[in-house]
Amino acid sequence: MSGIETLFERIGAGELPSYKVYSDEHVYAFLDINPLSRGHTLVIPRRRYVHLDEVPDDVARALGSAVVRVARAVVEATGARSYNVLQNNGKNAGQAVPHVHFHVIPKYDDGTGLPHHWPAGELDEDDAQALRQAIAQAVGT
Ligand code: AMP
Repeated sequence: MSGIETLFERIGAGELPSYKVYSDEHVYAFLDINPLSRGHTLVIPRRRYVHLDEVPDDVARALGSAVVRVARAVVEATGARSYNVLQNNGKNAGQAVPHVHFHVIPKYDDGTGLPHHWPAGELDEDDAQALRQAIAQAVGT
């Protein structure tokens, strides 16, 4: 027993097979096993955090940098001119695997990739003031 229990932790530790494309001290990236399009790749922290807001700053820096590097590499390797970066938090937001992961999903001219549905509303002015204040205060300096 390694003490590592969950699917993505075990993948990141090399205990379960994956199509690895990148790894460093904090981060592991591999092909999604059920891709939305050719080149669909996942970027994860090796340690398990369920939601993005739980990730500590040093890991966040490594993750952010790796997502950009992997996106660049996916574009170069696939020739996709468009792509989406998606990161779901919570079942209600579509998160199936409770371990932070960024999807890098090429979008091709044949339509494969992330389906686009964006039911935009309008920002309420009063609420915007309240929200701006609350979020800015929570973010801090
Ligand atoms: P999400 O719905 O954002 O939690 O996405 C989870 C993703 O993990 C899905 O796109 C799955 O296809 C992918 N996935 C689940 N198990 C594996 C695995 N063993 N290897 C690679 N990708 C996986």
